[in-house]
Amino acid sequence: MNILVINCGSSSLKFQLIDAETEELTARGLCERIGISGSRITFFPGDGEKVVREVSMPDHKTAIQLVLDALTDEGTGVLADLGQIGAVGHRIVHGGEAFAQATVITPAVKEAIRACSDLAPLHNPANLTGVEACEALMPGVPMVAVFDTAFHQTMPEEAYLYAIPYRYYEKYKIRRYGFHGTSHDYVSHRAAALLGRSYEELKLIVCHLGNGASVSAVRNGKCVDTSMGMTPLEGLIMGTRSGDLDPAVIQFIADKEDKSIGEIMSILNKESGVLGISGGLSSDFRDLENGSLEGERALHAFALRTAKYIGAYAAAMNGVDAICFTAGVGENSASVRGMICNSYLGYLGITLDEEANQKRGCETIITTPESLTKVLVIPTNEELAIARQTYALVRQA
Ligand code: AMP
Repeated sequence: MNILVINCGSSSLKFQLIDAETEELTARGLCERIGISGSRITFFPGDGEKVVREVSMPDHKTAIQLVLDALTDEGTGVLADLGQIGAVGHRIVHGGEAFAQATVITPAVKEAIRACSDLAPLHNPANLTGVEACEALMPGVPMVAVFDTAFHQTMPEEAYLYAIPYRYYEKYKIRRYGFHGTSHDYVSHRAAALLGRSYEELKLIVCHLGNGASVSAVRNGKCVDTSMGMTPLEGLIMGTRSGDLDPAVIQFIADKEDKSIGEIMSILNKESGVLGISGGLSSDFRDLENGSLEGERALHAFALRTAKYIGAYAAAMNGVDAICFTAGVGENSASVRGMICNSYLGYLGITLDEEANQKRGCETIITTPESLTKVLVIPTNEELAIARQTYALVRQA
């Protein structure tokens, strides 16, 4: 069965077509600048040449129609007709407390996703637009929602409650939710497979280090803590997000610079993180690794914050069997992994295998056989995870 995986943002849409039985990627692509001038679709058919079309996309429905046209194009397409798409898996950012796993989309599910829009005002409405565009263009094809927050719903209340008046949790559901759940789920399962151990008996720490970054603690097959919070702003230092911060800083900047809370939130989301600490050098770790003082400053702060979360989660689980690195930085930057492990994790009995740490693009154990705690690099594959969950639900139906 072919599964179309859709990741719909406010002005962009990423898609992959995956054969659920062989798990092969049949095609992938991206629509950019939806609703803005200069929109275009980039399509990568299987092993064929990439096709780029500059074409007007006033809305998401037009974008999805262009995706379906590209998939079935006589010359460069990969499908004879749309009947060959068995189901669509949608990445949905926030499922609140309503969704602890993926689910087939019904009118009630859409209503529940809409009800979570308060918690993710930029993402959930855009995700729903993608769902409704697909429903309109592919009537009768099952749609599945896979939530970024679902994997973390197993956290106990001592991990998800903020130490603010309890009434705010009761009234508004203000709490830690966590994100990147599909990635943490996928990587932690792959880690167990790579270690040849049962998922249910392991204590794992997964470091998803990309432009957005989060750590999770997975004990006996369940997420027990994670660093992102009610929104993705909390936790690690990220590309442009501050991560953890004394909340009093917000009031202080507001007073000093006569800024509104909204303006400061925008600074914390878009101008902070390694971009901010490096004095505006870059949010991209490849640029920070250029030997400059500004880059070094940002990298050291990033490594320390990450190591502190690893330490906290080792404590929260009373031990750790393996630490996994994934996403753009975690998969590609041997120096960042080295900085974290060599500078801070010796007390866990970790000894890096420096040669294995240089490998890229494959699942690898990067510690020596003697290392007491294992460290793994596992390329994440959120789209494949969404396709798998979609297939599992549709096959049952
Ligand atoms: P992601 O959000 O997972 O797509 O990760 C994107 C980020 O990964 C980029 O912004 C870079 O900071 C980082 N990245 C990608 N390739 C490399 C690399 N070869 N070395 C260091 N960082 C990288």
